[in-house]
Amino acid sequence: MRRYLVAGNWKLNLGPRAGRDLAAAVGERLRGRTLHGDVVVCPPFVSIPAVSEAAQGDPVMLGAQNCADQAAGAYTGEVSAAMLKEVGVQYVIIGHSERREYYGETDDQFVRKIDLVHAQGMKAIFCFGEVLEDRKAGRAEAVVQAQLEGVLPRLESANAYNLVLAYEPVWAIGTGETATPEIAQQMHAHSRKITADLLGADTAANLRILYGGSCKPGNARELIGLPDVDGGLIGGASLKAEDFVGIVDGAETAATDR
Ligand code: PEP
Repeated sequence: MRRYLVAGNWKLNLGPRAGRDLAAAVGERLRGRTLHGDVVVCPPFVSIPAVSEAAQGDPVMLGAQNCADQAAGAYTGEVSAAMLKEVGVQYVIIGHSERREYYGETDDQFVRKIDLVHAQGMKAIFCFGEVLEDRKAGRAEAVVQAQLEGVLPRLESANAYNLVLAYEPVWAIGTGETATPEIAQQMHAHSRKITADLLGADTAANLRILYGGSCKPGNARELIGLPDVDGGLIGGASLKAEDFVGIVDGAETAATDR
């Protein structure tokens, strides 16, 4: 049985003060509840300590949105996996479509970053997904296959415990347009099959594959209730406590319905 994961990606929003307030508001709503899954927030680097303090004792774990592809040294402006570990981070998002598109990040970097995250005992959330042009041209499945093949077989020690996948169709990110349940289930099943070929059937069966792309309280239950969808990576809706917790509630209902 795979535990769901709902992870909020705050992107370039919320400094330490506003981050603390949001974490406190989320924590307050989840405090004392026994959840059937895991809840993570991924603030900007500088907000992580304040968020950590505000979330103390609440069922909210800490994540980061990126890390350096080097362990240490003369890499101006970077933050290492070891530094993230030191401030209490447990999950690190790698390969988000915005890192691919705006910063030109490559498979080689994703492999190095994920290995560094794993070496610190943290979990990586590896994102992939097709752009609209690929979908329209009927090559969504092939694109996703290439994205997974470019990274997964090269990882040093990936398993169902330290790796989470996030299928994020780029056309659904921040657009308000969500993948239909049919598309989401089909792409998740496809991704799990490829993962089975690359990392083995056991790993694929136990590994969590999140859906990301305009997930909201109103569609979370249906999406996260799909057989191969194990949670959500949430952008816009993670910036409001009510919406984010509404998605957690949807995941809870889906988990108890199973
Ligand atoms: C994301 O950027 O990972 C994401 C899913 O964003 P949104 O929820 O805003 O579509």
